[in-house]
Amino acid sequence: MKHDFVALPKGVPADAFAAAVKEFRAIVGDEHVITSADLIAPYIKIMIPEEDDKHMPSGALLPGSVEEVQAIVGVCNKYKVPVWPISTGRNFGYGSAAPARRGTMVLDLRRMNRILEVDADLCYALVEAGCTYQQLADYIEEHDLPLWLDTPMPAPVASPTGNTLDRGVGYTPYGEHFLFQCGMEVVLANGKVLRTGMGALENSNTWQVFKWGYGPYLDGIFTQSNFGIVTKMGFWLMPRPPVYKPFLVKYPHEEDIVKAIDTIRVLRINQIIANAGTVSNALWEIAVTTRRFELWEGEGQIPDEIVREHAREKGYGAWNVYAALYGTQEQVDVNWKMVKGAFEASGGEIFTEQDMPADDPLWQYRKDMMSGTLSMREFGLYNWRGGGGSTWFAPVSQARGSETLKQMHMAKAITREFGIDYVALFIIGWRDMHHIVDMLYDRTDPAQMRAAHGCYEKLLHDFAAQGYGVYRANTAFMDEVAALYGPVKHEVNLALKRALDPNNILAPGKSGIDI
Ligand code: ADP
Repeated sequence: MKHDFVALPKGVPADAFAAAVKEFRAIVGDEHVITSADLIAPYIKIMIPEEDDKHMPSGALLPGSVEEVQAIVGVCNKYKVPVWPISTGRNFGYGSAAPARRGTMVLDLRRMNRILEVDADLCYALVEAGCTYQQLADYIEEHDLPLWLDTPMPAPVASPTGNTLDRGVGYTPYGEHFLFQCGMEVVLANGKVLRTGMGALENSNTWQVFKWGYGPYLDGIFTQSNFGIVTKMGFWLMPRPPVYKPFLVKYPHEEDIVKAIDTIRVLRINQIIANAGTVSNALWEIAVTTRRFELWEGEGQIPDEIVREHAREKGYGAWNVYAALYGTQEQVDVNWKMVKGAFEASGGEIFTEQDMPADDPLWQYRKDMMSGTLSMREFGLYNWRGGGGSTWFAPVSQARGSETLKQMHMAKAITREFGIDYVALFIIGWRDMHHIVDMLYDRTDPAQMRAAHGCYEKLLHDFAAQGYGVYRANTAFMDEVAALYGPVKHEVNLALKRALDPNNILAPGKSGIDI
């Protein structure tokens, strides 16, 4: 049959797809089914180094209720039409809103965005998938609640649900989002609704306060996976502390990453530093606030001398630690003595609020992010090269200086081979560091696209050869990353997929899981 669909799911004939679309329209209403190219366009604004075409959805569905989601999966099973659930689709640098496999329909949950409950005593929230951080921030402000959010980089427009399901992080003591998630509602591929943990009990009031429930703990299998559509999620909120003391420690030399991390590890494991602070290199600081052509227009990776010179002019460290203390004045005072002493002994130069100019944009946005205040400042990174290309290479490292130094040398050398700048940040985990390299490039330049693709691939494999793996991956490389985690893990993933979604209708290819 001749058709004018922009793409079709693999193995689904046009007439079957057309019949499915007709049934989708009956479920959610005409205006909530998208198949025309111009309306699909926003779903294909990807930043990763692969052609848009490979990730072209066949359309998008915007349900308004759990019942509609249940009815949609019924039609998906009937016609073998797959859907790619997104909460807000701001997964920038990991694939944005577009599916891993061409022809998958986007299941956009943005209309299901209610805040169902915010409990100021027990400090938790229960929201629908499409609820954004901005909505929650507004709610907290309107109701004058003594609670803090913990937000990732695209905070205002992103969702707690999408970010947590992809195991994203923020920067307060609640930075490891999945750790602070509590209870989910999931529409399974067979249309049934699962409430995890205590939510399985009728009239339970402990769904958002006790994570484990009874029997196997299931929430984890719905993260970075394609085993269900999460329609509601609970998570904990941090009580606003009486005193918040952010600080910055600058180190002058690249090799000082060893001293920085070895100092942070002790303070972090002992919970003196409680938050997911960051350690950014000079080029990260520069890239957030400057455009590359202002400093360098030559071929290849920006030379170290240029970075050093600009960093000196601006007063940036080769490495810049941003972290904070939280608590009562007495607690903060005691902890500050330890923190100051430890960083000074390691050769760092320490700055607090009083030392920083009020209009310093880098200080300001870290101060915001470490206290859960929404900020878009870090988006400045995307102007460094321009052209809309960004891919996060994000290996996990031990929180041990010798290890972060080794990863730094490896990543810098590999990115140099491909003419990509080493714009890097370590996010403080607990015993780990998330080593984050933002590969920035111009998507309109085919040579830069090829370089970025090749660079990510080499980073992935060379790091894997040393036993290092990424914590999260973009949709172009999910199969490769899954393969690196070995056949047994993959077999278990596939067994779960066959059991829970035998028709492969949910997000085929997510995390390399496809049957
Ligand atoms: P955000 O906009 O909050 O950054 P996204 O909505 O882009 O996050 O979600 C990130 C990824 O998590 C998606 O690409 C998808 O694989 C998965 N995901 C998001 N929301 C859901 C959901 N409600 N159910 C199942 N998987 C989801």
